[in-house]
Amino acid sequence: MESFYVEPENIKNGFGEVVGEEFFHLAHVSRKRKGELIYLFDGTGKIYTARIVDISRDKAKCEIISEDFMKGELEEDLTIAQAILKSSERFEFALEKLTELGVKRIIPLVTERVVSAKSPKDVSRNKIERWKKIILSACKQSNRALIPELCEPVDLKNLIFTAKAYDKKLILHEADNFKRILLCDYIEGAENSKSILIVVGPEGGFTDEEVKLAVESGFEVVSLGERRLRSETASIIGVGVFVQFLISKKIRK
Ligand code: SAM
Repeated sequence: MESFYVEPENIKNGFGEVVGEEFFHLAHVSRKRKGELIYLFDGTGKIYTARIVDISRDKAKCEIISEDFMKGELEEDLTIAQAILKSSERFEFALEKLTELGVKRIIPLVTERVVSAKSPKDVSRNKIERWKKIILSACKQSNRALIPELCEPVDLKNLIFTAKAYDKKLILHEADNFKRILLCDYIEGAENSKSILIVVGPEGGFTDEEVKLAVESGFEVVSLGERRLRSETASIIGVGVFVQFLISKKIRK
């Protein structure tokens, strides 16, 4: 069954109303008909199974049959700070995959070697709106109950200073000039962590000063092995392995 996003305020008295771009998709792209079953999600954790009872010119009225809360969502707060990539296709690909995998928060990151933005202010509103659409589309495709929060772009220094609250803070780094731990070994120690921040560098990687600053602020340098992975590969693998570990931990409980 297909999923459609509905603003929380458009779900009331046992009915949900699909409007706007979501309505256009429902009526004119997916060509849904009266009587069909669909999923509605409000992005705050609720997923409803609903039956379309009326399709008018600009909205679809759906009767709610059942609801789930936080279905398939991690209990832990997994956040990824992904360096903004020179290739917008690759960065958008990463946004889509990280959303499918189940992150709660995505922080577009500006570092020394980020080419397309010298400071967070260089990231246009249009770009951020486009990224939000990609995240919403990935939520629909993967049946997410939650829409990951897309944070305002931030530079690495500010991220490091504001990251104190996370239980676990990892900076993924491919070079061996810092004491580092393989992700699979690191993860064993993450058994009881509630909030995890994973930081991934741009095509040019992190400078030594950036890694040093992170380490001095309590980040662990984590390796994904000897190969030099593309940034988006590293974040997808890093998040993917952590998600598998957190899911298996939950199942073992
Ligand atoms: N600057 C590096 C170079 O030119 O050799 C390449 C950086 S890599 C393309 C981009 C980012 O992916 C890195 O900053 C790091 O966060 C992550 N990454 C890539 N390979 C990795 C590995 N084997 N272990 C940990 N992180 C890795």
